[in-house]
Amino acid sequence: MEFDKIDVPDEGEPIEVIDEEADEFEVPDTPIIPILHGDGIGTDVGPAAQQVLEAAANATGRDIAWMRIYAGETAREMYDENLPEDTVNAIEEFRVAIKGPLTTPVGAGFRSLNVALRKTLDFYANVRPTYHLDGVPSPVSEPKQMDMVTFRENTEDVYAGIEWEAGTDEVEEVREFVEDDMGFDDTIHSGDVGIGVKPITEFGSKRLIRRAIDYALEHDRDSVTLVHKGNIMKFTEGQFRDWGYEVAQEEYGDEVITEDTLWEERDGEQPDDAVVVNDRIADNMLQQVLTRTDEYDVLATMNLNGDYISDACGAQIGGLGIAPGANFGDARCLAEPVHGSAPKYAGQDKVNPTAMILSGVLMFDYMGWGDAAQLVKDAVEETISSKQVTYDLERQIEGGEKLATSEFAEAVVENIEKLS
Ligand code: NAP
Repeated sequence: MEFDKIDVPDEGEPIEVIDEEADEFEVPDTPIIPILHGDGIGTDVGPAAQQVLEAAANATGRDIAWMRIYAGETAREMYDENLPEDTVNAIEEFRVAIKGPLTTPVGAGFRSLNVALRKTLDFYANVRPTYHLDGVPSPVSEPKQMDMVTFRENTEDVYAGIEWEAGTDEVEEVREFVEDDMGFDDTIHSGDVGIGVKPITEFGSKRLIRRAIDYALEHDRDSVTLVHKGNIMKFTEGQFRDWGYEVAQEEYGDEVITEDTLWEERDGEQPDDAVVVNDRIADNMLQQVLTRTDEYDVLATMNLNGDYISDACGAQIGGLGIAPGANFGDARCLAEPVHGSAPKYAGQDKVNPTAMILSGVLMFDYMGWGDAAQLVKDAVEETISSKQVTYDLERQIEGGEKLATSEFAEAVVENIEKLS
């Protein structure tokens, strides 16, 4: 494929897909991996993560041919647009990529580039594991109990961006349609109104929930919890829950049982190899992740709930500086930290690059580089345990040594070399 302003490295080879449906790849020893550093603190955490991931690849007998790609501010400078075709094409073509955060203006301005990327390339599952690393300070007394993986539907819900601005002709048309044609004549109050639409499809819900159940089975997890607000939004969030139970009951046989069956037929005793599917209302779930943390494993939910819940889970294991994530589609992965571009810290060589580094761990795991992934995880844990940390953790650790972003990355690289 020809790119306008992207340099494709000579030395690497692309990752080849063998079976798209089965997520099967042929990964060369020096794969070409597109990397987008991102806006704001992306300029700090991007290069730091790149350095650490490369060190782990080298320590396990491999290399990475990085290919810089651009969106947001850097793309505006180079291409005079926010999300160039080059970038979308590169991620599509090379299959596995990693990105830092991208700024989205609140209220006016362009729509989220993250959402655009996820939708355009059909990265339908945003996966956010939250687990505790030794030495990371936490506001809870038993942070090790937090070991959940949130599967967040990535292409639908209010994030689909179907909304109309107050005071426009369009919103008046929608209001008339809703009130007069659909008969909701007493629901929208008079005066200015902004209206949004929340699409939740059977297809989108089921493929996300399938992915969560498959993950739970493959990783020996006990349960998948469908998180929804179906008591209020019956035909969107309530349907998500019902479609979830349908997938569980119709597609997995004995491998999956529902919580009702568990109690009605087995007095709560879980079969060894089965995953239990249950559901919780979202507001209760935000309490449960704090009060009954160790009872939950894998969460499957819609876009907005997933965004809230994964941040709440992340708070227990060190906050946004630590929390990793990755977007998955069929035979494609775009790793990215949970955090945003934190503009007030941009370019200060200050923030924690761990979230982006651990997002790279998810990417390595997906590529079948489990040894490199484990090495990165161990080296990060070793660094933090020795109290060498960035500002966000140092302010919570007595006797901690405050490192800059780049110094922290160097310390992790040293530990990679020591541990390998
Ligand atoms: P944010 O950028 O995640 O920052 C919120 C706070 O989290 C920071 O002030 C800082 O807290 C802490 N934090 C975030 N990243 C950190 C790191 N690497 N190390 C240490 N602490 C870190 O959230 P925001 O301020 O709400 O959003 C800023 C912009 O990012 C917005 O334009 C938003 O749309 C965008 N965003 C992008 C993505 C994405 O690209 N996937 C995701 C979320 C938000 P303290 O100041 O308390 O230390």
